[in-house]
Amino acid sequence: MVKRIAWNKGKGSSDETKRRLSESHKGYKMPQSQYVPFVIKKQITMQERLLNDYTGKELVEATNLVPHLWVLQNELVNESGQIIEFEKRAFLKAIYDDLSPKIAIEKPPQIGATVMNCLKAFYVAHELCKDLIYTLPTQSDVQDIVGGSFNRIIAQNAILQEWTHDHDTVEQKAVGKNLIRFRGTFSSKQATMVPSSGNIHDEVDSSDVEVLTLYQTRQEAQEKEENKWAWYFSHPSLVGHGVAIYYEKSDKKDFRITCDNGHEEIMEWPLSVDMMREVFICKICKTVLTDKQRINGRWINQDGIPWKGKIEGNYEFSGWHISQLHLYNKTAKDIIRAFNDPLKDKQFFYNYVLGLPFIGSDDRIEPKTVLMNCVDEVNDYYAKDDRVIIGCDTGHGIHYVLQNRQGVFLYGHETEITATKDPYDKIAHFLRTFEKSVAVFDQGGDLIGVRKLQAKFPGRVFLCFYRKDRKSDSYVDWGEGDEFGTVRVDRNRQMTIMVEQMRDIGRYRLCGDREDWIEFASHFGYLYREQIETDSKPGKSDRGLLGVEYEWKRNGPDHFCHALLYSDVGMQRFSGQKAKIFGTRNAMMGIPKAEMVSADGTVRAMDVPSADMAQTVLLNWKNIK
Ligand SMILES: [Zn+2]
Repeated sequence: MVKRIAWNKGKGSSDETKRRLSESHKGYKMPQSQYVPFVIKKQITMQERLLNDYTGKELVEATNLVPHLWVLQNELVNESGQIIEFEKRAFLKAIYDDLSPKIAIEKPPQIGATVMNCLKAFYVAHELCKDLIYTLPTQSDVQDIVGGSFNRIIAQNAILQEWTHDHDTVEQKAVGKNLIRFRGTFSSKQATMVPSSGNIHDEVDSSDVEVLTLYQTRQEAQEKEENKWAWYFSHPSLVGHGVAIYYEKSDKKDFRITCDNGHEEIMEWPLSVDMMREVFICKICKTVLTDKQRINGRWINQDGIPWKGKIEGNYEFSGWHISQLHLYNKTAKDIIRAFNDPLKDKQFFYNYVLGLPFIGSDDRIEPKTVLMNCVDEVNDYYAKDDRVIIGCDTGHGIHYVLQNRQGVFLYGHETEITATKDPYDKIAHFLRTFEKSVAVFDQGGDLIGVRKLQAKFPGRVFLCFYRKDRKSDSYVDWGEGDEFGTVRVDRNRQMTIMVEQMRDIGRYRLCGDREDWIEFASHFGYLYREQIETDSKPGKSDRGLLGVEYEWKRNGPDHFCHALLYSDVGMQRFSGQKAKIFGTRNAMMGIPKAEMVSADGTVRAMDVPSADMAQTVLLNWKNIK
């Protein structure tokens, strides 16, 4: 917290206080405080004993620099007059305090966002001296939310009354020396012409996209960075739409909770819910989670770095995803009931309960579907006539997946780097252990490590290059001559094949219990496919088979999927008999459902649908829609 205070340059505190707060504490003794407001004392003693050394006045000034402490300090109440506290909604604290210039929040209803947005807008206008534009979808939303909720919040909080003026209208509120203008997005485009140094866009996914873009363009044209603040909040709708676009550019923070056995994890549907007992559980050890565990946690970004008040890494946005799984007043039973609600479709459940953008079922695969491929069989991986293929995804250490014709039998993650040991040693160990085994690596990692392995195990270590999909018949090409040791793969075609095979239960055989494969399966839950718009005409495209192109993306760790894909590529060439299925084609996608492997283990030329047939399929499909 001390650091946090030092970072924030708000007004309302003396330079002397700032100087002293940012001073190192070594040997620096502050006078004992005589007066500390009760609420503050409680919060501070819990979080930061050091601050006890400050005087009451200093504390009051310091808490004004941290929005959630400012809320507690002033004993602010919500629109119903209830005092705002963070014990039941611990996840909100960090979001209140996030003053990043660019923020994206994907959220379901009922998390207390309306109150937070109102208070933060007033806080930023007054304490950071910013003129703001606050948009809601329509003018009548402005009447309802500002004229209703916001006005009630102002009326019940003395400090907000002090900051605002009696003659303020619903469209415009003076806050100290600054202004907040409230606008509907479906009103005149002239509305976008008013100056502001920060735009807050609420309910983005219900707003007029064109108008939001106008605001954005105008703001980007500003000279000073400090005038380019833009915050986007919404329940999400679809992938690639609305708030999800901005969240995608963010550090993507999730609230991670910890079970009795110390597993720190993201709660997700359906793995965090025991349907039979109707309780929340740990995804790993299945221990029942208490409400206390479920509502307390910490925010960790997509790279595994805990949030400390500012964006870590090269992300434009500070991104928050909140789900109702963390709400103190939602039981597992409530969540299951919402899922089974016959009056609501699946998208509703995703958007309004999980706070996630929805993806059509063809475009993603649930981890639970992946787990249905588990077979309770022992894999004889030393069998002489069954070659082991190792797929390796580099980047975050090495994620590896091992399979042979009997099935996929091992996956793991190696990160350890010491003077005498690196993750590549693990793969060398497998290559030694399994006779004739082959390893396929992605090209993104430490090429020196791969080259060393290639020298040590000649003809058994390959580098896999992803390339854009082409119309060409072959989507996997093994390098020859100078290129030996490499393989090039049409990325999206091969990923589609892998996901479709996973959906077609039984093609993959994951040897072992479902519990053994949870982490592996969870990586599939982060994959989704998006349609890419191309200008090309159907049948004439050299990029997409039907003039429609898809791209697989991720919204979380997907390393094991790629590791499996690389080992699949190796299987096709070196083992060959895993999925000997010919001609089952999903014409809708123009891509065969299974890879075509001939008996000798080589990849057979693919049967591409003719342009005429493709056109017909596409037209029929559009008519159905
Ligand atoms: Zn656990």
